[in-house]
Amino acid sequence: MCGIIGYTGKDQALQIVMRGLAALEYRGYDSCGLSAFSSDGDEITVIKKAGRLKVLSEALSTVQLNTRCAIGHTRWATHGAVTEENAHPHRVGKTVIVHNGIIENYKQIESELQCSFQGSTDTERACALIDRYYEQTHDGKQAIINACSQIEGSYAFLIMFEDEKDTIYATSRACPLIVGHGENGSCAISDISACRLDTYCRLNDGESARLTPDGISVYASDGHELKGRLLPTDVKTELPSKNGYPHFMLKEINEIPTVLRKTVDANTKDGLPFFKSIPDSVLKDMKRLTVIGCGTAYHAGLCAVHTARELSGIDGAAYIASEYRYSRPTVKKGDVVVFISQSGETADTLACIRMCRSLGAYTLGIINVPYSTASFECDGVIYTHAGFEIAVASTKAYVCQLAALYLLIFKASLLQNALSEKKVSEYTKILKNDVPENAYIDEEKRKTVYNIAKKHKDSENMFYIGRGIDSILCSEASLKLKEVSYIHSEAYPAGELKHGAISLITPDVSVFVIATDKKLIGKTENNMQEVSSRGGRLILLGDSEMKSCDIIPCNSLQGIFSPFAASPLFQLYAYYTALLRGCDPDMPRNLAKSVTVE
Ligand code: GLU
Repeated sequence: MCGIIGYTGKDQALQIVMRGLAALEYRGYDSCGLSAFSSDGDEITVIKKAGRLKVLSEALSTVQLNTRCAIGHTRWATHGAVTEENAHPHRVGKTVIVHNGIIENYKQIESELQCSFQGSTDTERACALIDRYYEQTHDGKQAIINACSQIEGSYAFLIMFEDEKDTIYATSRACPLIVGHGENGSCAISDISACRLDTYCRLNDGESARLTPDGISVYASDGHELKGRLLPTDVKTELPSKNGYPHFMLKEINEIPTVLRKTVDANTKDGLPFFKSIPDSVLKDMKRLTVIGCGTAYHAGLCAVHTARELSGIDGAAYIASEYRYSRPTVKKGDVVVFISQSGETADTLACIRMCRSLGAYTLGIINVPYSTASFECDGVIYTHAGFEIAVASTKAYVCQLAALYLLIFKASLLQNALSEKKVSEYTKILKNDVPENAYIDEEKRKTVYNIAKKHKDSENMFYIGRGIDSILCSEASLKLKEVSYIHSEAYPAGELKHGAISLITPDVSVFVIATDKKLIGKTENNMQEVSSRGGRLILLGDSEMKSCDIIPCNSLQGIFSPFAASPLFQLYAYYTALLRGCDPDMPRNLAKSVTVE
């Protein structure tokens, strides 16, 4: 969570930092701020606001700030209300700081320091501690080392000291932080999308860096310099743009056919699944499919487990990372565990990767963002090629995760002789051709989805019901709606409704049925009748003879492939519902994209 950027160099720092913050705003957007050295380097100005980046831009337009060195932050509050005082940067004495993470012992630090504070964040306490050591040592690097040895919790810090002109310090523990050369200077960023880098170095836990206009020095936790850590990068950062769309979410749903093709192309060779970094022996010996993720990624995992079982009898289970990490692990040496994370920075998922590795498992990441922490920590990685996903609610990345998982299942099934090469090549072809084609939403369908969303937008409670693979899709469809439209909704296997939740069905409740599985449609129709008899208002994604419902026709993909046609449609339904209710679909309240705190 939270976006961090720092720049010191020859170019206008304010422009670079503001542009970077715009690219990082999806990570947290309840408040924002920046601090900058004056052009003579004598003093640091701090400007911060509660609210979105445009409020900060307005404030900046009224001041003259000519600077070559600045740090900025977009906040996702963990400790302390969303107020101007609690926005970052924080300043105590000569020390100015921005922070991503949680300082767990901030109360203890506060009572030891015995000084007064302006706000109530954990960050301000850490800033005061660093400043206390700075008063004693007059050495920024040493002050940070001393303070960090006392700090418990997670952090990525960028720090300026008023006496150290045009210099930025960076340090991190359990939070992503990258330093590198680019834009005619030295940069520190929380993710690679925020600035164009020619060289980069991800700071490992406890490491720090000193950035000046002339270069970057990286230090180990004891302070000795680490040479040769900056490596060339080949990431061509295209700063995210809406390309004429009103929202990133809509743009990203429309990109699904293209990014599906890219994901399949990048992970196939000669018409069969191919993963550069994963030895065949790993998948040949994979007895169970164990998948770990959070939110949407967990739902992709559920779908994969269902598909592996249906397709080739490979059994398995999907787990929620925040639960798994605190439960008794059953993973053993030699097991394969699949971790799904769009950002590759999800804190709970990273903790599970570390836990499973320490138990001797082979860790396999399905990750969208290159150079992310998970991409370095997993034994093998399958990249999804969704491109930057900026809207908080995942759409295209989720569908690409499904494609990557399917290729993984096909390959494992082939190596385990559960599927013939002919069958696997046939399935791979469907994934490459039919799937992207059917994930496309034409104008007629778009209008249908819009009109149905309009009809049901005022239902404050919704259910999503389905059977088989559709029941799994319901969990994701329901999450999407909750995230962006703030409608309370629940997902249920259709046959389960009558075991309790049907008591909630009234004429005010809309029930969204996903019924792509033709084998089960008859059974699902029985459940739709039960809803209809109690006045519930039905929406159907699929085909049915039932006339008393609003129908979103789904394309002809069948069986295990139906999620690829259904998902863009329920995502678009959530998008339009959000719009029609006056919600911002890209930056929903209380959420942030990359969940780097547990
Ligand atoms: N814990 C800090 C705060 O609440 C940092 C939050 C963040 O990562 O944005 O201000």
